[in-house]
Amino acid sequence: MKTYGFAATSCDAPLAPFSFERRELRDNDIAMDILYCGVCHSDLHQARNDWGCSQYPMVPGHEIVGRVTATGKAVTRYKVGDAVAVGCMVDSCQTCDQCRKGEEQLCREGNTPTYNDKDRITGERTYGGYSKHLVVREEFALKVPETLDLSRAAPLLCAGITTYSPLRTWNIGPGSRVGVIGLGGLGHMAVKLASGMGAEVTVLSRSNAKAKDALALGADRLLVSTDDTAMAKAASSFDLIIDTVPVKHDLNSYMPLLDVDGTLVLVGQIGPLNEPSTVPLIIGRRRIAGSPIGGIAQTQEMLDFCGRKNILPDCEMIRMDQINAAFDRLERSDVHYRFVIDMATLTPDTAAA
Ligand SMILES: [Zn+2]
Ligand SMILES: [Zn+2]
Repeated sequence: MKTYGFAATSCDAPLAPFSFERRELRDNDIAMDILYCGVCHSDLHQARNDWGCSQYPMVPGHEIVGRVTATGKAVTRYKVGDAVAVGCMVDSCQTCDQCRKGEEQLCREGNTPTYNDKDRITGERTYGGYSKHLVVREEFALKVPETLDLSRAAPLLCAGITTYSPLRTWNIGPGSRVGVIGLGGLGHMAVKLASGMGAEVTVLSRSNAKAKDALALGADRLLVSTDDTAMAKAASSFDLIIDTVPVKHDLNSYMPLLDVDGTLVLVGQIGPLNEPSTVPLIIGRRRIAGSPIGGIAQTQEMLDFCGRKNILPDCEMIRMDQINAAFDRLERSDVHYRFVIDMATLTPDTAAA
């Protein structure tokens, strides 16, 4: 199937129109028209080869929402016209212990990322959602609840599940005390989801500037992390802190905020941190943990939860040809809180222009 999208052709080239092929439908594949695709911070990292594993041309995008246009003959879960979504992975071995538990993101053989990887059968490159069409095996497609506004649902597929999964791992619910560091794409979803689960939510920020925004998103308060008195007063008062900061940073001022057995879970920075002290870890039996996205079953659970509670990211819709400007703004954290590409703006003309 011929299709088109926008691709990075090298680490320093702007994204540009790109024509390519999607595979013919296998028996367990669905084909979809992509309607919306979120712009994740990792798209920017990957396009610019910040993690050293990028291959070009690369079509980024792993927050994908659309409608089914065709189904392979063994497909049972979807029919033409269904609203579907695809997140950060499109395949896994399906046989290891983690896959059998529904934790495909932790597949022992490694899951197959939606872009910048290889198809497990043919070895062809995987291309992401900055494009018009997608073919995916049905096991890696998600149902989007019809109550959700499709134009805002896409960021749930990465920012949503990345913050939902640790909230579930650490059993967050009514009465839980949750802190959120960083109020970007991930952070604002962490606030909405934790608050939707009934937790008491505090945004940790370097200044008071985002206090109004934090409360509007559902937080109970903002704690200024540079205010030593306020920080000392908040010692031992959190069960879980979700740290969404996507760059190297310092954890030492945050760790004493955790109660005994409390956990700070990293979901943003993939790479080094400033040296953390073990003192608050040992003295308070506190933990530093990490968490990647979530499995397919949990991603569906998250979408259904958001459908019931009408939880949606705050999005800024852009045209496909605005993607390079959007990357520049993302780099400056100048977005409230997630860019979403309206794929109706990607036409053969845009792609050829
Ligand atoms: Zn992402
Ligand atoms: Zn596996």
